[in-house]
Amino acid sequence: MTTTRFAPSPTGHIHVGNLRTALFNWLIARKAGGTFILRIDDTDPDRSKEEYVDAIKEDLDWLGLHWDRVERQSLRLDRYAEAADKLRGMGRFYEAFETPTELDLKRKKQLNMGKPPVYDRAALALSDAEKDRLRAERGAGVWRFKLDQQRIEWPDGILGPISIDAASVSDPVLIRADGQVLYTLASVVDDTEMGVTHVVRGSDHVTNTATQIQIIEALGGTPPAFAHHSLLTGPQGEALSKRLGVLSIRQLRERGVAPMALLSLMARLGSSQPVELHEKPEDLLDGFDISTFGAPPTKFDEHDLFPLTARVLQGTPLSAVADRIRAAGVPDDQAERFWTVVRDNITTLDEVDGWWTMFSEGADPAIEDEDRDFIAEAMALLPEGPWTDATWGEWTAAVKDKTGRKGKGLFMPLRKAVTGQAHGPDMSQVMPLMRVIRAKG
Ligand code: GLU
Repeated sequence: MTTTRFAPSPTGHIHVGNLRTALFNWLIARKAGGTFILRIDDTDPDRSKEEYVDAIKEDLDWLGLHWDRVERQSLRLDRYAEAADKLRGMGRFYEAFETPTELDLKRKKQLNMGKPPVYDRAALALSDAEKDRLRAERGAGVWRFKLDQQRIEWPDGILGPISIDAASVSDPVLIRADGQVLYTLASVVDDTEMGVTHVVRGSDHVTNTATQIQIIEALGGTPPAFAHHSLLTGPQGEALSKRLGVLSIRQLRERGVAPMALLSLMARLGSSQPVELHEKPEDLLDGFDISTFGAPPTKFDEHDLFPLTARVLQGTPLSAVADRIRAAGVPDDQAERFWTVVRDNITTLDEVDGWWTMFSEGADPAIEDEDRDFIAEAMALLPEGPWTDATWGEWTAAVKDKTGRKGKGLFMPLRKAVTGQAHGPDMSQVMPLMRVIRAKG
């Protein structure tokens, strides 16, 4: 059965880059009728925070990307210890004692000599006595996985056939000196034991994948199908990581972006298929194909989310936003009319507040100097409120009779006097919502 997972580390809020990973894995699972696991990668007790676990769930819920079950790495430490013992027993795991400074020095030397900075495996040559001495002097060492120095190959779902020479990769540290199991091992144990069949993640994980394939095989498992999506850049190709704060899912949400605007864009951005706005996450399944995504960095412009959000709002019924409309102060008996008028004229939902203020308190009138007398005349003809659907037609007809103005010269100054804006909804629908008109002329 197809099983995928989204595996964030709860060390911060999820951002648009993570969202792509979550969405692709969700789509693969749902498309196959399989299982989508939310796996919390919380093996680092210092950096993992419970508030981020909650926030990740809340963000996924808001997006409508529901998971079938949650797994937590911090509850599975005994499984990782068991895997580590197995690797030790097979002679694929060795303790190394170099300090970070020593490793740094080795790397610099290698680079000076024009060699790739790969760990030289000096620890493999240590005798038991030397290890005892180092342990006594420096405390416990780190544990490295001994790679088989051959080519590691896999057919990547996005990048195509990949072949990496294991000799060009350092033996990965899987357990830190303080005993903390690292993600590289934990992830492999989880993927194998949870029957994960497909892993989609960012292309910053390609080297990890090479080493993880060998670890999985050493532990007797079968590697899942891997696909590595390109990293997102800003609109000019600049690194997005510098602006991650701006692009967290919750910040986009706070700025009024609609979840389906975000999902519709992300489900196609960087692929050969056009972006189409869909109503719900399930509608994205049709036509989703991971092999249509390209390897080069994908440009992402958050501004693209706003026209899409505006279109989502145009198709949104009152029932879906009634609470928000009520919170803006709109009385229930006006809500239907208010929403019908306003939804075609906003980019994000937050703009409803400004519209209600305009209707309930009146707008600052915009009156050209040459129109002052005209507006004064027109205001004298404005019937007493409350105004109705018929008011605009009757009023403009009376103003036309009195002043002789017609067409744009008649309607535009009146619209600007009433709403303060040159553009906006049909004035015959605006009038019944207006409580106050401040124009005097
Ligand atoms: N916790 C890892 C990360 O957030 C998961 C990577 C993976 O999908 O294996 O980068």
